[in-house]
Amino acid sequence: MQFHILTLFPEMVADGLCTSILARAMEKKLISVETHNIRDYTENKHNKVDDYTYGGGAGMLMQAQPVYDACEAVQESLPSRARVIYLTPQGELFTQKKAAELAQEENLILLCGHYEGIDERALEEIGAEYLSIGDYVLTGGELPAMIVVDAVSRLVPGVLNNESSAQTDSFGNGLLEYPQYSRPEIWRGRQVPPVLLSGDHAKVDAWRLEQSLLRTKERRPELYEQYMQEHPPVEKNKRRRRAAKAEEPV
Ligand code: SAM
Repeated sequence: MQFHILTLFPEMVADGLCTSILARAMEKKLISVETHNIRDYTENKHNKVDDYTYGGGAGMLMQAQPVYDACEAVQESLPSRARVIYLTPQGELFTQKKAAELAQEENLILLCGHYEGIDERALEEIGAEYLSIGDYVLTGGELPAMIVVDAVSRLVPGVLNNESSAQTDSFGNGLLEYPQYSRPEIWRGRQVPPVLLSGDHAKVDAWRLEQSLLRTKERRPELYEQYMQEHPPVEKNKRRRRAAKAEEPV
């Protein structure tokens, strides 16, 4: 999968993504991250890419021309037109589900704003989709773009050594992940839950599901409610089936 990041600060993105799991994924050519400096596309003789906003107000705005031209240059270099995601606090909230959807793409263009953002006309002309990483405002789209690259890359086959870890991680099944422990068995007098040492996989799985449910209910009640609606408890199902049977004509 190839990420194309349009930014005024390419070094920030490149430096931030070239370590650990993502660096290995790049070496293995499972993913690539190309940065494109929007400033390289400006037609302004002083290399300017921003200007005051019409109507007044604080701050500068990234102008339409360099943003649009940078994006078109990348699109023209690709075998087919790619989705363009503009990182903005005004976008759809980025979730694990969205990451899984984006991981299906061959190419993805991520557009980073700065200052007050980007001239609306460029975004409309580009046909950008809008994605937010949360209800707070950052100085630029670079960190959000890096977050999207990281979360999406983990879901590209081969990037994680253990594919199943993405499924058991939080949100993989709609719940938060269960607590985890490593050696030693006792640390500062605190013992690892004995069931995890039992070697009984069925019991371990049951304990983990129970812990995931408890943790999600406590920390993210809205996720818990949704999960319970989608996975009604077995007993409830059984009772429903029995009730339905009783109503069947003989
Ligand atoms: N004036 C904009 C507004 O009120 O919606 C905020 C602009 S912000 C200071 C500058 C840039 O940072 C945005 O263009 C966007 O690319 C990025 N940004 C800031 N917060 C973000 C968030 N929560 N999610 C994604 N991108 C964000």
